Amino acid sequence: MVSIHVDGLTRRYGYRVALKNVSFEIPVGGVHALFGNNGAGKTTLLRIISTLLQPHAGKVEVFGFDIEEEPIEVRKRIGVVGDKPLLYGELTGRENLKFYSDLYDLETSTANAIIEDLAERFDVKRWLDEPTKILSTGLRKRFDIIRSLLHNPELFLLDEPFSGLDKDSTEVFRNYIEDKREDRTAIVTTHNLALGSEICDDFITLRKGEIVGKGPISEFDGNI
Ligand code: ATP
Repeated sequence: MVSIHVDGLTRRYGYRVALKNVSFEIPVGGVHALFGNNGAGKTTLLRIISTLLQPHAGKVEVFGFDIEEEPIEVRKRIGVVGDKPLLYGELTGRENLKFYSDLYDLETSTANAIIEDLAERFDVKRWLDEPTKILSTGLRKRFDIIRSLLHNPELFLLDEPFSGLDKDSTEVFRNYIEDKREDRTAIVTTHNLALGSEICDDFITLRKGEIVGKGPISEFDGNI
């Protein structure tokens, strides 16, 4: 069973080619690293898989759903953490999380229980009723991670998920992903190659929009 199938994917910004004829498959389950230097195309790739950006050529399927033809089916199944938290600054953490729970059609009592549980795990309970705009970058990131987990997604698309997180929160999130690795799939971009090598089963390395390496993490030589 395959979680992500990418075939001949190309994406440009104007004349600049961000992804060039990229093809790969990711199985269901496990934690998979996406390595590459600044500008390699990692964010572009994750944004396309997340249905936030359209490809210029090629095909992308998530659990068999084409990202262009059935984006809603894809969105139901993914949890996305990117560089900018998807939070409304005027709303409190709790209001933000309730808003997203509604979008995911969660029952109020289920949503409340999930919010309590995740707020406890990520140690943000005492901040739940503050507007998120007054929170530190790290706290906002923790709320954003909780937001991405509310609907218990089958696929985590995580762009630098640990940047801005303190040691404890990194540990909590890392454990969360690892606990779910049997039946949940995670793709993680990180510039922290040591951490990436610790938590991931395998890797893909992008350079200037092309795949230049992939394999089990034991074969990763630190070269990006
Ligand atoms: P980083 O590690 O810095 O986040 P990345 O591997 O995520 O880099 P991308 O952000 O996908 O790389 O960028 C790939 C290429 O596309 C780069 O050359 C970048 O300058 C270019 N690019 C990305 N977004 C845009 C945009 N909105 N407009 C124009 N060019 C862009």
